[in-house]
Amino acid sequence: MTKPRCPDYRLETRLVHEGQERTPFGETSEALFLTQGFIYENAETAERRFLNEETGYSYTRYTNPTTTVFEERMASLEGAEMAAATATGMAAVTAAMMGQVQAGDHVVAARALFGSCRWIVEDLLPRFGVGCTLVDGRDLDQWREAVRPETKAFLLETPSNPSLEIIDIEGVAEIAHTAGATLTVDNVFATPLWQKPLALGADCVVYSATKHIDGQGRCLGGVILGSADFIENKVQQFLRMTGPTLSPFNAWVLLKGLETLSLRVERQTATAGFLADALHDHPKLRRLTFPGRPDHPQADLIRRQMSGGSTMLALEVEGGKDGAFRFMNALRLIRISNNLGDAKSLVTHPMTTTHQRFAPEIRADMGIPDGLVRFSTGLEHREDLLEDLTQALERV
Ligand SMILES: *Cc1c(COP(=O)(O)O)cnc(C)c1O
Repeated sequence: MTKPRCPDYRLETRLVHEGQERTPFGETSEALFLTQGFIYENAETAERRFLNEETGYSYTRYTNPTTTVFEERMASLEGAEMAAATATGMAAVTAAMMGQVQAGDHVVAARALFGSCRWIVEDLLPRFGVGCTLVDGRDLDQWREAVRPETKAFLLETPSNPSLEIIDIEGVAEIAHTAGATLTVDNVFATPLWQKPLALGADCVVYSATKHIDGQGRCLGGVILGSADFIENKVQQFLRMTGPTLSPFNAWVLLKGLETLSLRVERQTATAGFLADALHDHPKLRRLTFPGRPDHPQADLIRRQMSGGSTMLALEVEGGKDGAFRFMNALRLIRISNNLGDAKSLVTHPMTTTHQRFAPEIRADMGIPDGLVRFSTGLEHREDLLEDLTQALERV
């Protein structure tokens, strides 16, 4: 059900209008089709739809008009030929990886991955006979050396969660393609605004739409983007048959989120930059990492592949876990929660939550010291945030 895109319009305009197809009522806002399925005018129509001889909706596990608008808008935003929406970000990562491999294949992934993504490649895929090698994603030689004749897919995340390490997408894509494999990039931390993995050579991009795309902590969602060939032949059948479908209600909420995405992410990134500059040499911080600062260890690479910093900061507080807990518990405005990209500023302690299941040496390898606190910048006034962070750091 592809409708003509509006490529002549700029990003902000497309975020508001792309994909909308009005019903005869002429509604202003996108219509919400909260329906499990669709009625066929006659038995012949049903037969033709099932034979794929006629386009049209049949069942929301397959497609739904509200979800289609979300997919069209995401594809336009990302510069992808096609998008497939999913119930959560993890459903997107799982489908993107499972859809590409079969027993006997091999995948290579960066070790600094979101905890559940790492479980998919390290624990789930091997159960079905798919081998996995984890590498330090920053070292291109490690990607090259990990390739085997049966390597089919690469997976990485950049900037990584929560350490904000950067991986050279163009360099890794070239190695993947030389090996006859594909590259999938989890682009959550960069947001669709600041990094375009497909333009850098990736074959597939995945998002947790739960994060910046909703951006207001209301619902879960995910999306997979790539060429029409990739989505139709690797992903779509897996999604349709196994059923991790995005609810049309959540697709509608996410569409409303996309309308304000650029406003929110630009403001959050600017505030994150302000806080990073204000706090980078604070005596209670062992280290502050922000991809928008010139002292990021990979600042050159960031300049080449990203057009903006990030809405995230990684703060390594003095005093390890105790220091981090004292800091977090002293915060008054900023709340402890594991969402990110939210309108509300939030902190997480990766060691004891998102990355708790990893042994200490693996955590160290992933760049997660005990005192690390992940900070997601919200939409509050920057001075209120700075005051809260400063008073809490004094309690460390
Ligand atoms: C949150 C997140 C996911 C998973 O998304 P859900 O919507 O929670 O399933 C995957 N990757 C990254 C980088 C994330 O931050």
